[in-house]
Amino acid sequence: MAIPAAKGGPPGGSSIFALSIHADYRCHRSGVCCTSDWDVPVELPLHRTLDEALAAGRLRPAAAPAGGGGVLVGGEDLPDDAAAMVARTREGDCVFYHRPSGLCVVHRDLGEPQLPATCRHFPRLALRDGRGTSISLTHYCPTAAAMLFRDDVRLEIVEAPAAFPPAEYEGLVVRPADWPPLLHPRMLMDLEGYAAWERHMVARCAEERLTPEAVIAMLDRDARTLRRYQPGHGPLAGAVAALPAEPVAASAPADLSGSLGLFDELMRAVPDDRKPDPDETGLGGAYLGGVAPEWGRWSRPVNRYLASKAFASWTAYQGRGVLTIVRGLEAALALVRVEAARQCRNAGRALDADLLREAFRDADFVLNHLAVGEDLAEAWSKAET
Ligand code: SF4
Repeated sequence: MAIPAAKGGPPGGSSIFALSIHADYRCHRSGVCCTSDWDVPVELPLHRTLDEALAAGRLRPAAAPAGGGGVLVGGEDLPDDAAAMVARTREGDCVFYHRPSGLCVVHRDLGEPQLPATCRHFPRLALRDGRGTSISLTHYCPTAAAMLFRDDVRLEIVEAPAAFPPAEYEGLVVRPADWPPLLHPRMLMDLEGYAAWERHMVARCAEERLTPEAVIAMLDRDARTLRRYQPGHGPLAGAVAALPAEPVAASAPADLSGSLGLFDELMRAVPDDRKPDPDETGLGGAYLGGVAPEWGRWSRPVNRYLASKAFASWTAYQGRGVLTIVRGLEAALALVRVEAARQCRNAGRALDADLLREAFRDADFVLNHLAVGEDLAEAWSKAET
């Protein structure tokens, strides 16, 4: 399966934004992106470079391709701009991945600029619009998932993050002629108003005293309030600033049934050829016995996970309003509960930091690498009616 690809077109402003918890990301060579049985497209100019290096012996695969074929595999079904795919081993590793050292031999022998674009960009997920480039991370990467647990930095949106220098980042590109996000199906937002709403969502996630369920309940109330905005009543950003501060109490659901319903909705956005086999037996019991009693300890990393969905949101541009975005956050939270229950069931123990980190990884694998974003946005847009 492929990592989300760029949709083409020129970027907006040149500023770069990220969440503070991701702003100093560095690859820790977990190797997960090199061993996930993913398609790795090779762009045409790079194909020539790698081909020549292979022919000259300056580059050698670290493992044999499955079936004994070539290292760079051509074909008719290649993505745009790709001249080949990197072959994989029988186990699903990239043939350039050297398991004993955990190193990529392309990176080691030819340098980082000679990596396929997919490899250079993972785990970054970018959104380019009139404000600049906003970069989030997929927490399928274990290093990114661990960053949700850090307590050395306040959660906020920061500009010019050290980890993401000015560059062309792959992701969703919103061209100047494209519509800005919708407030609701009958009204567009201005970018300043949308930026205020994005900051507001992240700020809610940063409120330490709130449970994840309270974050969702408050954002749902805020979105419904904001939908009543009329253009004659001042700027939209002002309406965001005037949203009520009163907390809404909400705690984890008593059982997993509602979360499994949202999980089913999510899985309908996964194409059949990527759909995992059903494996939900016993999750209700695992939630009651292993997740629910421990859930209250983990509000901070779960809220940070929610912030990563609220920030740089593709759903904002693909969906039909602010309630759609909130519905997407609610679905992401439900998915974490389901994956946490699966982790507890499989490990035979109650939720702890290691299991929750794996639940984040599994949740983002579904959201970022299996499901089709447009289909998710369409399903979540039902919240607007
Ligand atoms: S080319 Fe290198 S970085 Fe890319 S998937 Fe293969 S081993 Fe990993």
